[in-house]
Amino acid sequence: MEGLQELKDKLLQIQDVVILTHRNPDGDALGSSLALRSLLLKMGHTAKVILPSDYPIIFSFMEGIDDCIVFDEEIDKAKELVAKASMIFCLDFNGLDRIDKLGPDVLQSKAYKVLVDHHLDPEPFPDFTFSDTAASSTCEQLFLLWEQLDWLSSMSLDVATSLFVGLITDTGCFKYSTNTNTYRVASYLKSKGVDDYSLNDTIFNALTEKQLRLLGHCLANRMEIIPEFGTGIIHLTKEDYKEFNIIRGDTESIVNYILMIRGIEVAAFIRQQPTIVKLSLRSKGDISVQEIARNHFNGGGHKNASGGSAYARLEDVIHRFKSVLPKYVKEKTIHV
Ligand code: 5GP
Ligand code: MN
Repeated sequence: MEGLQELKDKLLQIQDVVILTHRNPDGDALGSSLALRSLLLKMGHTAKVILPSDYPIIFSFMEGIDDCIVFDEEIDKAKELVAKASMIFCLDFNGLDRIDKLGPDVLQSKAYKVLVDHHLDPEPFPDFTFSDTAASSTCEQLFLLWEQLDWLSSMSLDVATSLFVGLITDTGCFKYSTNTNTYRVASYLKSKGVDDYSLNDTIFNALTEKQLRLLGHCLANRMEIIPEFGTGIIHLTKEDYKEFNIIRGDTESIVNYILMIRGIEVAAFIRQQPTIVKLSLRSKGDISVQEIARNHFNGGGHKNASGGSAYARLEDVIHRFKSVLPKYVKEKTIHV
């Protein structure tokens, strides 16, 4: 890892650390940020986690989560922390547009910047970059980084638990994006006492009645299958948002259900939010939804899991998605 010695030397001096992760933080964003926070505090540094927007309530059990600053709610404090930080860690995101209004503050800051991330196309702003698109999660990468730094022995159960959260959320409980390190890291974390059964229950059996009914509505009334392109689309209108009183997090993971249909290899979940239309895209195998998101919807992410958005009418966005499909997906002669 290039620059590892410099990073090691920096962390031998006491630092004022700010840890940043992406908007709408998920299990990997929170797990990596909170694990790093605990470890740095233990080493004597100061460490504050700043989240661009609030976190899903299911993660409120995580150690240190109450100490996070939510930028949307404490703008001045967040900006001040970034301005006076001597080190900034950017975890689980690849570009400054993923942290919204804090992007320019980070770019301007004189702090030593570290990026640990597994998305495609990382931006070149950091002083130290550990980017690996083959990693299951940023939590897996943090583990490998700490292994290199010889820090594993100081890992507490809380830190191990936070890292495990990132592993299971970014791999859908080891169903995709895994590599041999993923299982090695999981095994090590379990040996530290992580209660994986209880974590899985807390995180994956956590829908509200409203959320499960909304899923039913999506599957029954809002799903369209395009067999010749092995693609499924679910859309949600402004009216659906009102009727189901949808708030942030309620639509999480709906996109994945489309891929449960035999023969479906591309899934799109397209929703009409107040000012933008947001897309979540998923695929299997060699089909890159990252290219679709990047080329047509001002977004990005991973090859098989990406997102984007458009300032346009819902119908037009759905139409645009359908019309670009043939460029990325081979037409099937045998229909599903
Ligand atoms: P989700 O569909 O679950 O919101 O996001 C899937 C993946 O795509 C995540 O890794 C996320 O970082 C990425 N992603 C989602 N929306 C955007 C976006 O608007 N821009 C970029 N660059 N990446 C996104
Ligand atoms: Mn991640």
